[in-house]
Amino acid sequence: MTNFTTTQSGAPLASDAHSLTTGPDGITALHDFALVEKLASFNRERVPERNPHAKGGGAFGEFEATEDMSAYTRAAVFQQGAKSEMLLRFSSVAGEQGSPDTWRDVRGYALRFYTTEGNYDIVGNNTPVFFIRDGIKFPDFIHSQKRLGGSALRDADMQWDFWTLSPESAHQVTYVMGDRGLSKSWRHLNGYGSHTYQWINSEGERFWVQYHFKSRQGVELMEAAEAEKLAGSDSDYYRRDLYEAIERGEFPTWDVFVQIMPYEDAKTYRFNPFDITKVWPHADYPLQKVGHYTLNRNPQNFFAEIEQAAFSPSNLVPGIGISPDKMLMARVFSYPDAQRNRIGTNYNELPVNRPHATEVTNYQHEGQMRFNYPDASARVYTPNSFGGPAADPARASEGRWESDGELVRAAQTLHSEDDDFGQAGTLYREVFTEESKARFLQTLAGQYGALTVPAIKDRFIWYWTSVDSGLGAKLIEAVKHGDIASADPVGVGE
Ligand code: NDP
Repeated sequence: MTNFTTTQSGAPLASDAHSLTTGPDGITALHDFALVEKLASFNRERVPERNPHAKGGGAFGEFEATEDMSAYTRAAVFQQGAKSEMLLRFSSVAGEQGSPDTWRDVRGYALRFYTTEGNYDIVGNNTPVFFIRDGIKFPDFIHSQKRLGGSALRDADMQWDFWTLSPESAHQVTYVMGDRGLSKSWRHLNGYGSHTYQWINSEGERFWVQYHFKSRQGVELMEAAEAEKLAGSDSDYYRRDLYEAIERGEFPTWDVFVQIMPYEDAKTYRFNPFDITKVWPHADYPLQKVGHYTLNRNPQNFFAEIEQAAFSPSNLVPGIGISPDKMLMARVFSYPDAQRNRIGTNYNELPVNRPHATEVTNYQHEGQMRFNYPDASARVYTPNSFGGPAADPARASEGRWESDGELVRAAQTLHSEDDDFGQAGTLYREVFTEESKARFLQTLAGQYGALTVPAIKDRFIWYWTSVDSGLGAKLIEAVKHGDIASADPVGVGE
């Protein structure tokens, strides 16, 4: 590399410090193209931040499939012994780029496997469920968690108004208000694919699966008081922790498990398996080990490799498909659309986004910032009689399911044990320890203290009483005496 500076076209610069002026004290010349180019480039340095999941960090690593999964999927990435380069990005959901890492929130957990059959992305969270079950509500949900139009402030009334008017959120809100809403670090949390996906084996047999990524570092919480302190003193706490751990050679590892449901079970299972507000209890479908991955390489350039990383649940590989989960079907459209808007038409050509272990061959053509192109003689259409590539359905092995019905706008079919509050109640009663329950009550009481609209306060009590009547009674008691610390909404402290 030369050690002198140049313009973008490679010509040596005359100065890094002085613009072209008429004499040392005179006006600046518009034809100082070096100055104009430098400022124009600077003005365009930012791309629109993600909306949501704007604040995050990530690292590269390696996944190794250690178990024999060939009975369930033909995906090369999950065949025993296969090793794949991978990328993992953690994020918070509601806060903007500069927001503190330790605001209570769900954490995004986006995985990319650079496989020999194309890039496979699992764009999950650190929770096995989600707030809503139909993508048509997603923009409203995110608006309610971000900022009011007028004051541009986050607002507890707005958050709880949406949640309590959308009771399918109860399971996820229980999770987030509990110990898992504030983790010690990104290294100390479990990830989940959350949605149900389809696996297809080489015989064409189909299965439904849910992914679980268990931290070998352990799952550890952060106390609310510490999180609040760190929000002020080190807003990049999680990002720093991951980066510095990897620099020190402490490489975090997660074990990969799946729950596997036979294809036919989905029709009669007690919970609708395509409802993302529900889990499949482990007793019904036990976890089966697939392999593990280790993050061992920090990005060389955060912007190029993490900010421009464009994950999408539509990045699937042969032997893996989606399911009729309405949130997932909406995301398969909206993620690539968001990336086209955020980064540009040809975002998939960037080094972090293009396949690393196979090639791209298709007839997509031109568009802004295109820099990959075929040989001059290659045809740009299909079918062609010049030996150009053609689709090979036998390689694709796409997911599929039966669908025959009238077009309707209707809620998902309820299965025998489906409701909005049942699994949230199980989480509170049977999984939370006594200490977790005490912290949870304190968090909820604090949240109540930030509410100002009487109807929302009433619905708040109704919502938690519906999760568990004993919890509701304790909450009423706590807020009646007014012995609650006044609290700001989630994301503005505890
Ligand atoms: P299990 O007793 O078999 O599993 C409970 C699971 O809850 C644990 O394995 C752990 O999963 C997770 N967990 C532990 N502490 C907490 C916490 N403070 N907050 C959130 N999750 C925690 O029970 P079931 O499978 O019958 O599920 C019971 C409830 O557990 C569900 O209603 C759901 O709320 C929750 N849960 C269930 C999961 C599932 O896939 N079945 C996954 C996670 C939670 P992990 O090791 O994955 O962190």
